[in-house]
Amino acid sequence: MLRNFFKPSLLLQNNLRYKYLSNICNDLGLNKLGITKPETIHHNLSYSQLFKHEVKNEEGSIMKCKYGDTFSIETGKFTGRSPNDKWIVKNIGKESDKNIWWGDVNKEITPGIFDDLYNKSINHFNSLNECYVFDGYCGTSIKSQKKVRFIHELAWQQHFVSNMFIRPKNKNDLNNFEPDFTIINACAIKNEDWKKQKLNSENAIAFNIEKKVAIIIGTWYGGENKKGIFSLMNYWLPLNNIMSMHCSANIGKNGDSALFFGLSGTGKTTLSVDPERKLIGDDEHGWDEDGIFNLEGGCYAKTINLLEENEPDIYKAIRKNALLENVYQNEDKTPGYENTFKTENGRVSYPIYHIENFHKLQNAGHPKNIIFLTCDAYGVLPPIAKLSSGQAMYHFLNGYTSKVAGTEIGITEPKATFSACFGEAFLTLHPSKYAELFEKKLNEHDSNVYLVNTGWIGGGYGVGNRISIKNTRKCIDAILSGDIEKCEFTKDEIFRFQIPKELPGLSKKICNPILSWKNKVQFVTTSYMLSIMFQDNYKKYKGKGLKDYSDYGPKIKETITNF
Ligand code: ATP
Ligand code: MN
Repeated sequence: MLRNFFKPSLLLQNNLRYKYLSNICNDLGLNKLGITKPETIHHNLSYSQLFKHEVKNEEGSIMKCKYGDTFSIETGKFTGRSPNDKWIVKNIGKESDKNIWWGDVNKEITPGIFDDLYNKSINHFNSLNECYVFDGYCGTSIKSQKKVRFIHELAWQQHFVSNMFIRPKNKNDLNNFEPDFTIINACAIKNEDWKKQKLNSENAIAFNIEKKVAIIIGTWYGGENKKGIFSLMNYWLPLNNIMSMHCSANIGKNGDSALFFGLSGTGKTTLSVDPERKLIGDDEHGWDEDGIFNLEGGCYAKTINLLEENEPDIYKAIRKNALLENVYQNEDKTPGYENTFKTENGRVSYPIYHIENFHKLQNAGHPKNIIFLTCDAYGVLPPIAKLSSGQAMYHFLNGYTSKVAGTEIGITEPKATFSACFGEAFLTLHPSKYAELFEKKLNEHDSNVYLVNTGWIGGGYGVGNRISIKNTRKCIDAILSGDIEKCEFTKDEIFRFQIPKELPGLSKKICNPILSWKNKVQFVTTSYMLSIMFQDNYKKYKGKGLKDYSDYGPKIKETITNF
């Protein structure tokens, strides 16, 4: 009797439950993607809910940080982005096919292969009992803001995107939320058919612009979510004549804004946090007819060798609700930022308001100053140089920085890296499209442009040292306060930009790199070598229909006279 009594009621319960749950899938529109099976969908959980899930799912550990316990996770094999696994669907004849800069950065796959990867991801989510959905925004300018959705298996990944993207003010904001783009992150699965499909590995990050969806397979690295959407902003914005930029931004007390362009590790995040100025954002911005605006809602800082005395605001941002990634944990559960056993790319993400001095509006007028950051490990570029607008365009297209070869014994040679617009890996359109917009903006708003070398002085890697953050800050302060305009300049004989003879608090020896090199002949040879690399790289921007700025680059002279 009892059994009979219970059976139908259980059935009914299950039916009701199924109905209720499938309504959730329907309500959110996940069924349109093919996701129908997960019984529970956690939608835009709060930080405290996310924390409970992270702990319950045993996704990481709690790190004892000075300003509060912080959740900490590891991303497995991938501790950085995986650019060789990035693909875009070639939808022949469609808008994206005509617009995309096809090549090494944007490699094509067929719609068929995409569908295969897509189905694998969807099947995976349909095998799960629960999953997480975050709905939020990219871009603080309402005119060009995009609605983005992330579907994840793990709570920490939702935590990451909640930190990095613009969070809805309240749940009502999400009524009738129709995403402009969805990322389905099936990081837990591998694509076993990759050889047959002629892909690069069992991992894939694949975008289908017309279908408004991307999938991630095989890599857990958090940055793929963020930079995936950035690549799309780099598509949508310029097509609407809005500049999109891989740069940080801040604003002074008088409302003067500044941009800091630079490749990874050059100091965008470190230097945009400034006690005298308010932070707008640390990595991705747009520039439209009203001014500049952040694309994100948080920051993603490197933690390697992080010291409170050098970077107090970032250090203090590492507290409850921040999320540590691939950071070594000491025995006493404190973070070992100096320990690079796991990776040199240890990171922390946090919502922007964790930086005390953040700019609530997240946008500002047209930038008064633009700084190109470069980390020159050859030690020949000056810590600070003033660029003409032609030179600015040349350096913008070339996008130079260098990397040190690593910490292996005997390897002392730095490696030059050139990356168009200081962010080639994220450009979906041809670099000339961004250059065109940038030049127009520079001319319209008369922004000053400087090149700041945060790399080596007194000799290259292995001989000299990396310039201190303190001294780089003096360069930046001189630019932002306008003091630099009062300085006397000298022209660099090879690179031909203007170098200040000295700056408040910075000696002649630091300002002009040749003065700090013991071996002057070696300085000149190294400068020549670097300038040849500059010229070689620039060749790809010469050609029919492209505006040629090569006259603004380095020139090799027979005699050097300024030392
Ligand atoms: P990404 O695009 O990968 O986020 P980023 O441009 O934001 O890179 P930062 O995170 O600011 O780069 O990294 C700069 C790193 O270099 C930090 O770890 C910082 O401590 C270190 N550093 C050392 N010397 C300097 C200097 N003179 N100026 C700036 N950063 C320096
Ligand atoms: Mn950064």
